[in-house]
Amino acid sequence: MPMNDTLCDILPLVERPSRYLGGEYGAVRKDRAKVDISVALVFPDVYEVGMSNIGLAILYECLNREPWIAAERVYAPWPDLEQQLEKRRLPLASLESETPLSRFDIVGFTLQYEMSYSNVLNLLRLGGIALESAQRGEDAPLVIAGGPCAYNPEPLADFLDAVVLGDGEEVLVELCAALRESKRAHEPREELLKRLATIEGVYVPGHFTPIYQEDGRLAAIEAREGGKTRVRRRFVADLDGAPYPTTPIIPFMQTIHNRVAVEICRGCTRGCRFCQAGFIYRPVRERRMETISSILFEALERSGFEDVSLLSLSAGDYSSIEPLLTSLVKTLDEQRIAVSLPSLRVGSLSTAMLDELRKIRKTGLTLAPEAGTERMRRVINKGISEADLLAECRTAFELGWRLIKLYFMLGLPTETAEDLEGLVELAARVKRCGKGTPGGADVHVAVSSFVPKAHTPFQWCSQLHQEAIEERQNFLKDSLRRKKLRFKYHDARTSFLEGVFSRGDRRLGRVLRWAVEHGCHFDAWGEHFRFDTWMEAFAANGLDPHWYLRKRDLDEVLPWDHIDSGLEKAFLAREWNKALAGEITPDCRGGHCSNCGVCDFQEIAPRIVSGDARSPSADTIPTPANVKTASPLQERVIVRMRLAKTGKTRFLGHLEMMSVVHRAVRRARIPVRFSEGFHPAPRIAFGDALPLGVESLAEIVDMELNESLAPSAVEEALNRELPEGIAVSEAVRIPPGTLSPAESVESSCYRIALNGEDRTQLEERIASFLAASEIWGERPDRHEPMELRSHVVDASCTEEALLLTIRRGSPFPAAAWLLNLSWDQLRAGRVVKTSIRLKKCSK
Ligand code: SF4
Repeated sequence: MPMNDTLCDILPLVERPSRYLGGEYGAVRKDRAKVDISVALVFPDVYEVGMSNIGLAILYECLNREPWIAAERVYAPWPDLEQQLEKRRLPLASLESETPLSRFDIVGFTLQYEMSYSNVLNLLRLGGIALESAQRGEDAPLVIAGGPCAYNPEPLADFLDAVVLGDGEEVLVELCAALRESKRAHEPREELLKRLATIEGVYVPGHFTPIYQEDGRLAAIEAREGGKTRVRRRFVADLDGAPYPTTPIIPFMQTIHNRVAVEICRGCTRGCRFCQAGFIYRPVRERRMETISSILFEALERSGFEDVSLLSLSAGDYSSIEPLLTSLVKTLDEQRIAVSLPSLRVGSLSTAMLDELRKIRKTGLTLAPEAGTERMRRVINKGISEADLLAECRTAFELGWRLIKLYFMLGLPTETAEDLEGLVELAARVKRCGKGTPGGADVHVAVSSFVPKAHTPFQWCSQLHQEAIEERQNFLKDSLRRKKLRFKYHDARTSFLEGVFSRGDRRLGRVLRWAVEHGCHFDAWGEHFRFDTWMEAFAANGLDPHWYLRKRDLDEVLPWDHIDSGLEKAFLAREWNKALAGEITPDCRGGHCSNCGVCDFQEIAPRIVSGDARSPSADTIPTPANVKTASPLQERVIVRMRLAKTGKTRFLGHLEMMSVVHRAVRRARIPVRFSEGFHPAPRIAFGDALPLGVESLAEIVDMELNESLAPSAVEEALNRELPEGIAVSEAVRIPPGTLSPAESVESSCYRIALNGEDRTQLEERIASFLAASEIWGERPDRHEPMELRSHVVDASCTEEALLLTIRRGSPFPAAAWLLNLSWDQLRAGRVVKTSIRLKKCSK
């Protein structure tokens, strides 16, 4: 994909250009002229966070499967890029086709956390779209949102044309179809919104009006005459039939989760009363092992990832987790692919499972008792006993884990000093479990602050104010330090604001708008969070944020009462009363239905795979024949390749380039040899790092193989898998003992394009440079002087370019001196490493 020239000018000036390149392996680019509907899927945070979200990846797959829809991605630009866009009056655009946000038919946000709301508004502003739904013209994109926060969309209601509730796989395609029909019929926007409101799972905020009482509480939420009074969420009854991405997009940069992620199960039946995800994703729906296995192997083969993650709200509760894990670990271990289960529940870890996990562990074991005392755990319906927790931790330490991370929550309803003391004691007891085990045992404690969420039994309870949270955090900090336990906690101010918006009403929209207009964005990032500006925003709009943390009466009209999550309000109230009485509600997975209201037991019902005759046993999980396992070592075969790195790939850093090559090697199924030891790594050696922004026709990479493959076959296979801009131009076999790529380069030639510089002056500077015994310049990145002459072998110029031959390192210092330019000016121009001279000798 040719990159827009302006973007090329900007990227050298920003911190992480690979965030904005697009064109990653697996990205879908359609001809927009040939589709009926274009959708921008927007994650309101930076690329590396958004690319790790599996929900958006699923929707990208569902939409792009349809030939008449083109879905593209948009992430929040980091403030350095935002500044450049604003300076040059450029609109925010998509990664795939660099289309401005305002030119899409649909702009869809995923709302994963409340602290991203300011980014939603800021992105609309940067995309040139009117913030408020009522201000948008007939040609403006339809602005929609979905995700967990959409279950109380009211704080964003003024800014959204429609909201998708529940599982988005089917409803989003239906919404696109409705828009297509509406466009064909040339309907006005108001008619389109009426049409959308008829789709199950689509909420149109403009069709509802909140009526407030004098004391600020809601009197009612009135639906437009003749319209639905409540909007029900959508369910995907059977995940095995639902689309799932098997060609993941491979980011150039290191994202939060760089791996194949397979959702093994959706929903949870444990009923932890604080957990919104546990309620809004009900009922539990497991994918069959066959489906998981086929998704996973296909995605591995197509991606070249080295890690696999099995996703679920509680992976240990997946009914066939042991056979699944045993089988996967056995197969994937041979291919040096690690498996991880990011969410494990205490009580779901048998010794056999811990043993399997031990084989593939990379870091410590993370467990979430959530509360320090049995009483508190009964209140939150976390049905785990201290004895279970200690037994699992003891087994883990005995099996070789050195670190256990414990997650707790602070400020839960009815919490007392005794519960906090219990938390400290419990963590200390866990640490004592590992006493005497070889290598020692360590425990880290992380404590988040409880924020009540809509559609949970705790939706009525009060939230601790900031000062009270800080007081309890200080108590824990001192107590845990005395026990020599490391402690991490959240900023109480962030939890405070999250609490205001999680149970907020439509009036908060004006606070949000004011805050964004006064510079608030990236609130989830400590360095950008402007708490004081937020407080000014509340004051300027006459709202008291503390009021939103108050306890609600059971009969109070809640801002999300018209959103039908499937859960009966009476069930949630029963659960709230049981919490106060310290009563447990059993898990409904085993048949103890507590009548939450979600299932109709015809189409919508829990789907558990164990006992399902269609599910294979552990021994019969299909392992695709085309997944190649490592071959035994026969002889030392080393292939040296010359690579070109041109176009936008010049903005890839050295580590990013290495990762691109590693994954392409895996996808190409080249039998690369691995190092020995505890963490085997592919034997692929790279030369010195190329400066960011410099193209190259002469990078060298050595690869040691396990099979005697012809270099031309390696070249061909790799070129099929490398992204545009990176290509092998030559591959030869070299004898063992040859100097490594970094050691073997004697000098490198660079071509630096001239941009109107006076050639006569340049020739004079070159002559005086070459005649000098030493020349001093400055490294602007380190602000320190450096000697330049000794690095330069030769310099000359043509009408178009400065030609520079240097021994090692970057051409920028000498080029900057010769051309009298800054490094930034040089980076914005065209600099190409054209050739290298290799040393003759071997080791
Ligand atoms: S209706 Fe019963 S079985 Fe279904 S999710 Fe609710 S509690 Fe579980």
